[in-house]
Amino acid sequence: MNSIWELETFYRKRDIVIIGAGFSGLWTAISIKEKYPQKTVLIIERNTIPLGASTRNAGFACFGSLTEVIADSQKMGWEKTLELVKMRFEGLQKIRTCFKSNEIDFELSGGYEILNNSEPLQHLDAVNEKLRTITGLERTYVLNQKKITEFGLGKSEFLIENPCEGSLHSGKLLQKLLEKCH
Ligand SMILES: Cc1cc2nc3c(=O)[nH]c(=O)nc-3n(C[C@H](O)[C@H](O)[C@H](O)COP(=O)(O)OP(=O)(O)OC[C@H]3O[C@@H](n4cnc5c(N)ncnc54)[C@H](O)[C@@H]3O)c2cc1C
Repeated sequence: MNSIWELETFYRKRDIVIIGAGFSGLWTAISIKEKYPQKTVLIIERNTIPLGASTRNAGFACFGSLTEVIADSQKMGWEKTLELVKMRFEGLQKIRTCFKSNEIDFELSGGYEILNNSEPLQHLDAVNEKLRTITGLERTYVLNQKKITEFGLGKSEFLIENPCEGSLHSGKLLQKLLEKCH
């Protein structure tokens, strides 16, 4: 049985309960508080520290490579694909607005995709045109053959660079999100 003290503190009623303190749970809590500051939110995490994909990923801060975007557009059409890319792009910007680069080791190092056939290149201009209103760039995906040698990717045929992507420290981001939620 819980004590009166526990019932009035840790177990007090909340408007919204979120299960899981990974990126999804923490960002959801933050979004709810931004939209509805008066709502009370509780996040329940089953582990002492969040133990899920959020602290075990590669730390790529990406919103989709050229071939991913092409594949998505073929599977679900351009409208849905652009909606998804926009959400991911804005998500990345939100991370950068909420936290300083040095707090989460964010580096705008670019995202790269190796291609070993030229077919996707035929879609390059059309995809760039579609993404222009999202990224604000004339060319989100750029063919950058010079970097094949620079990166030591000798046998690769083509290298596509996306200057809007980069990397971050997922552990530090999760820690900062936890602090923000507290
Ligand atoms: C190997 C790998 C590499 C990846 N690389 C990248 C990458 O480079 N870039 C990228 O953007 N994405 C990457 N991802 C994807 C990204 O990590 C996930 O999309 C993201 O972390 C999912 O967050 P989440 O909060 O939904 O899930 P999780 O981080 O898994 O969080 C779920 C949380 O819920 C808790 N939980 C579960 N059940 C309960 C319960 N019943 N009660 C209480 N708590 C519970 C868990 O303990 C956990 O802490 C990668 C994923 C993996 C697995």
